[in-house]
Amino acid sequence: MASIFTMIVQGEIPSYKVAEDENFYAFLDINPIVEGHTLVIPKKEIDYIFDMPDNELAAFSIFAKKVALAIQKSVPCKRIGECVMGLEVPHAHIHLIPLNNEGDMNFRKEKLQLSPEQMKEIATRIAANFTHK
Ligand code: 5GP
Repeated sequence: MASIFTMIVQGEIPSYKVAEDENFYAFLDINPIVEGHTLVIPKKEIDYIFDMPDNELAAFSIFAKKVALAIQKSVPCKRIGECVMGLEVPHAHIHLIPLNNEGDMNFRKEKLQLSPEQMKEIATRIAANFTHK
């Protein structure tokens, strides 16, 4: 069975898309720990990020960098933190998290309650600042 993230890539489950190219897709985390919390995934389903071939992992990291630069321009923050867990969803993904202090990377804190309109507005802002270059 396809992963929930593959279903997102295929449009079977909606997402707040911020960027994509031929191989990768970026969208807002549905339970953000801070505003602009974004997930970046390979379109090709693979469970564990460190099982990715070197060339694909390198391309994945470079795509995540482009998304991080777009988030940085879109959300007030000091820098973008990057985190890999994958304990919940078995489809490789990178969390990109706008940081203003160390506590912003705490996945145990209460999740933000954002309306669909707020999520859409954040995704649109990031998408507008995304560039493939
Ligand atoms: P992890 O696997 O890295 O431990 O956590 C998975 C992350 O994916 C969580 O932060 C969770 O909120 C997010 N997530 C799980 N299901 C969905 C979904 O259907 N849509 C979106 N946008 N995010 C999801």
